[in-house]
Amino acid sequence: MADYDLFVIGGGSGGVACARRAASHGARVAVAEHSRLGGTCVIRGCVPKKLMHYGAHFADMFKVARAYGWDLDEPQLDFERLARARNKEITRLNGIYIAMMEKAGVTVIDGKATIAGRSGDDFIVEVAGRQVSARRVLVAVGASPVLPKMPGIDHVVSSDFVLEEVFPQPERLVVVGAGYIGLELASIFSWLGTDTTVVLRADLPLRGFDEDLRHDLAAQLQLGGLKLKPHAMTECVEKTAHGLVVQTSDGPVEGDMVLFATGRDPMPSTRGLGLESLGVGMNKRGAIHVDEAYESSVPGLYAVGDCSDHAGHAFNASIHDLTPIAIAEGRVVAEALFNDNPHKVFYETTPTAIFSLPQAGAIGLTERDARARGLDVEVYRTRFRPMLQTLPDGQERITMKLVVDKASDKVIGLHMVGGDAAEIVQGFAVAMTAGATKAQFDATVALHPSAAEEFVTMYTPVGG
Ligand code: FAD
Repeated sequence: MADYDLFVIGGGSGGVACARRAASHGARVAVAEHSRLGGTCVIRGCVPKKLMHYGAHFADMFKVARAYGWDLDEPQLDFERLARARNKEITRLNGIYIAMMEKAGVTVIDGKATIAGRSGDDFIVEVAGRQVSARRVLVAVGASPVLPKMPGIDHVVSSDFVLEEVFPQPERLVVVGAGYIGLELASIFSWLGTDTTVVLRADLPLRGFDEDLRHDLAAQLQLGGLKLKPHAMTECVEKTAHGLVVQTSDGPVEGDMVLFATGRDPMPSTRGLGLESLGVGMNKRGAIHVDEAYESSVPGLYAVGDCSDHAGHAFNASIHDLTPIAIAEGRVVAEALFNDNPHKVFYETTPTAIFSLPQAGAIGLTERDARARGLDVEVYRTRFRPMLQTLPDGQERITMKLVVDKASDKVIGLHMVGGDAAEIVQGFAVAMTAGATKAQFDATVALHPSAAEEFVTMYTPVGG
C-alpha cells in the first residue's frame, strides 16, 4: 500500500483546500511546502495587499474629512510601521494555517518536492531528502512573477518584494505593467504618498476588462494623482547617481524604486518537478493541461490553481488565477476522489476586483466579449458622483454598467468603478449565478441611499 492516498505539492490556496477536504473524508494526505504554508495569497498576495490597501484608504478619507467637520493636523504616515504590522499579521495567519493542517490530520513536510517516477500505479515523490509513495498526486505549485530579460533588470523588484519586505518608503516609484497587480500596488503607493508612475504598453490599463471600466478607472486614478505613461515600451533600467531610470520608447521615467508587474507564469514552479519525464501535457507558460476533473494527461496526477490551465477556462489569466478559483478546484478534486461527489466549478460568474483607490469590480462578460460571441446585447450604463463626495465637492465618479443578453434577458456582465466595488460585486455574483434577468434586477427594490442601488435602477439602455 502507498504511504499516502494523496500527496499535494504546494501548500497554497488550492493545495491546502484540497488536502483539508480530502483528509476530512478519511484520506491519508501529505502536503509539501518549500516556503510558507498559505501560499501566494496569504504570504505575498491578496492579504498583505489588502492590508496595504486599508493603509492607503486613510489618505482618501483624510482628504474629505474636513468637509465633514473633522480637523486633522497634517496626518503623518509611518510606512515602515505599516509594513511591520502587515508582516506580523501574515505570520499570525501562517501559524493558523499550520494549526489547521495539524487539526485536519494532514502531514506537512517542509521542503521542495519533485516527482521521481512511478512504482506500479503509485507515484514516487522526493522531498526533504527522502522518497514517499502516493496513490495520487495533486500539483498546486502556483505561479511566480516573470521578469523580462533586459539590461538593468537586476535593479528592479517584483510584487513579492514589495509585499514581503520592510523598506523605507520610496519617494518615487515606477511600476512597469498595468495588469491588476501592478495597478493595485501603484495606486496603493500613490495614496500612501509616493510619487508613482505606471508604464504601460497599451493605451489603457487592465487588458481583458471591460473598456468602460478600463477607461473610467484610468481617469479616476489619474485624478487621484497616479501618473500613467501609456504606449510606452520599456527598453532597459539604468542606475544613476539620482536613482533609477526606466528607459521607454516614449522617453525616460525616473524613480527610487522600480517594480515590474509584468505577469506571472507557472513555468518557474512546474519546470524541474518531474512532469516532463512523466509526459504531463503543459502549455507554453508551463500551465498543466487538465480536464474538467482537473486530471492531467497522466491518470492519477491532478493540477489546480495558478499552475493549471483551469480545464481550458483560462481565457483570461487575470480573471481565473484567483484564490477562490484555486480553492474551488482543489475541493472538487477532493470531493470526487474521496467522497464520490463529482461536481464542477462554475467559472462564468467569478467575481473579480481591483483593489485600487477607487476600486473596480466585474462579473461575467465584457461588452466586447459578449458581442464577439455573437450575442445581441443591450448595455446599461450610469456615471454619477458618490454621495460622500458631495460635501467636499470632490471629483470622484462611480461607473456602473450592465450587459444584458437580449434573447434571454439575462444579465451576463456587470462592471463597476467606485468605492466598495469589491463588496458590491460579490453580492451581485450570487444573483448572476442564479441566472438573474434584467427584469428581476428591475423588480428588486433599491436600498436607499446607497451606490449599489443604481444597479437596480437603470431603466434606459445606452442609445435607447
Ligand atoms: P499558490 O498560492 O501560489 O501556492 C503554491 C505554493 O506551492 C506556494 O506556497 C509555493 O511555495 C509552493 N511550491 C511551489 N513549488 C513547490 C515544490 N516543488 N515543492 C513544495 N512547494 C512548492 N487572488 C484573489 O483572489 N484576490 C486578490 O486580491 C489577489 N491578489 C493578489 C495579489 C498579488 C500581488 C498576487 C501575486 C496574487 C494575487 N491573487 C489574488 C492571486 C492568488 O494569490 C493566487 O491565484 C492563488 O494564491 C493561487 O493559489 P495556488 O494554490 O494555485 O498557488
